Amino acid sequence: AQKRTINFGAGPAKLPEEVLLEVQKELVHYGTSGISVMELSHRSPDYSNINDQAQQAVRDILNVPSNYKVIFLQGGGTGLFAAVALNLMGRTGSADYIVTGSWSSKAAKEAAKYGKVNLVLPKTDKYAEIPPAASWKLSPEASYVYYCDNETVHGIEFPDIPDTKGVPLVADMSSNMMSRKFDITKFGVVFAGAQKNIGPSGVTLVIVREDLLGSPLPICPIIMDFTINAKDNSLHNTPPCFAIYVMWRVFEWIKRRGGVEAMEVAAKKKSSLLYNFIDSSNGFYTSTVKPACRSHMNVPFRVGGNGNGDDALESAFLKGAVANGMIQLKGHRLVGGIRASLYNAVTYEETETLVNYMKSFKDQNS
Ligand code: PMP
Repeated sequence: AQKRTINFGAGPAKLPEEVLLEVQKELVHYGTSGISVMELSHRSPDYSNINDQAQQAVRDILNVPSNYKVIFLQGGGTGLFAAVALNLMGRTGSADYIVTGSWSSKAAKEAAKYGKVNLVLPKTDKYAEIPPAASWKLSPEASYVYYCDNETVHGIEFPDIPDTKGVPLVADMSSNMMSRKFDITKFGVVFAGAQKNIGPSGVTLVIVREDLLGSPLPICPIIMDFTINAKDNSLHNTPPCFAIYVMWRVFEWIKRRGGVEAMEVAAKKKSSLLYNFIDSSNGFYTSTVKPACRSHMNVPFRVGGNGNGDDALESAFLKGAVANGMIQLKGHRLVGGIRASLYNAVTYEETETLVNYMKSFKDQNS
């Protein structure tokens, strides 16, 4: 078979080859339906089974208790920036945002259209750390506290779940969902656009605590309404059936591999390999993030330039990577440099291939 290119993209990102082959096998004739999942009615028993199994898999993998609803929405992570505010802001009219990178910053801007947004941290655009919790300005009257568990662009991941002193906690886990264990009962809402760690683009996984349902703002569009979509079992309107089906297959893959526990072990192993190599490169490669909050999923780094990145070296690095079968290593346009995303589907061997390439690139250029 043709060798696959190693994909370090931040999203849409690598999917497990096993899942792709499974989907390929069933693409034209799904089960006994005689047609493709893409052609199934969303009201058919076949699709209903996909929907139920996908939800159940989320419950199994993340140990979700029955007072939480699992829903599948559209609109991506960005859709949820609005949906969170539209569904929860009505509680008190204000919300706290812990802004630690570009995605939480965008979420705060979107929410400000629908209520008062308190910024818990001083404003910055140089995101490199999570300031100590003792310095956070949380307000007891906030409807919810929002944060991004893993900032995909800046490579910052929360080592611990923030303590909000009882105010409902909302987390964007778009880029680290199902990469590590977490206690869902500490959250009011978690959501993730699927296209990084859990599936193709087109579907957003939302898990919401039941007591937070029932008070959307009157202007909340139906397709973003958690209460209606939970009540209608993610079938209020036509869902992205095919994306949900592929996501379900990714969930089954995660279960076969040993669940989030196994994903967490693998993520630590892969990211340590890369960070340790960066840190021992005598400044040829530099990490842009303080060690305590370095992401296990997205590893931004610079090449040369005394830590600021040398444009010529970085473009030579990217070119050489492509020549060696590794793509999508360019850093986000906001920060430049290089970024390697090590999502669940990326293997240890692929990470080793990258590190070996980095070794030889360094030897040739220093
Ligand atoms: N949140 C995070 C953490 C992300 O990484 C992204 C996309 N890269 C988004 C939200 C926005 O997702 P979407 O493109 O699906 O709107």
